Amino acid sequence: MLTAEDISISFGGVPALQGVSVTLERGQIRGVIGPNGSGKSTLFNCLTGFIRPDTGTVAIDGRDISTAAPHERITLGIGRTFQTPRFDPKADVWQALACGFYPATARSITASALRLPSARRAERRVETGVGELLERFNLTAQADQPVGELPLGTVRLVEVARAMATSPGFLLLDEPAAGLTEDEQQLLAGQITALAQADIGVLLVEHNFDLVVGLSDEITVLANGTCLVEGLPGDVAADSRVRSVYLGL
Ligand code: ADP
Ligand code: MG
Repeated sequence: MLTAEDISISFGGVPALQGVSVTLERGQIRGVIGPNGSGKSTLFNCLTGFIRPDTGTVAIDGRDISTAAPHERITLGIGRTFQTPRFDPKADVWQALACGFYPATARSITASALRLPSARRAERRVETGVGELLERFNLTAQADQPVGELPLGTVRLVEVARAMATSPGFLLLDEPAAGLTEDEQQLLAGQITALAQADIGVLLVEHNFDLVVGLSDEITVLANGTCLVEGLPGDVAADSRVRSVYLGL
């Protein structure tokens, strides 16, 4: 289980999160929603190590990882995507996915240049792994296409696929459906459900209320840097506090 406990952080004296706790089990989809500026991305960044909170702890299966750097957390089983996809636009899908294997297969430049057996084994692992990801995410037909020329929905899928290269136990997605068409959102939703069925815990920071309600096992609602409500999607959607703060009803 991935846990954040009692997380607080201020930027220039202004609190962005105040005593927020959240848990994510393997195989669970947890939606995190809230108005703009409520602290969703900050919580995400505290979990992934991009921001060190002022107080509070992050742990995997009870093991404190609060001081681990972002790249160490990837090795420990936390995969992530970015709110704005980060790709070399000239790289094709195959190359973009191959990059995802780098943390697991990094070898010294010397070993690669000398074509030592260890470097060749790593290359074969990457080739097999990329092939598996292309198939799993239905991207085989796009393998040779530059990422920069793909529709946004496909780019988001490539991003999720790349994050899966390190076989994370937990996958954190920051607004993966932003800018997608209805069809693209449904495709993405299907992939997210499949990840949870494969026992991956998915933390879904998402703006689209209906999408989150439809996908999540549990939802955490943030408002002004605190946890307003946490619970089952149906209960959260019906909660009068959520309706007034989040939906402005
Ligand atoms: P959300 O993702 O829910 O829209 P954020 O977590 O991005 O919200 O932001 C929460 C609050 O923290 C906002 O008031 C935002 O302006 C502030 N904030 C976030 N990151 C920084 C930063 N790096 N420096 C200063 N203020 C920040
Ligand atoms: Mg955000």
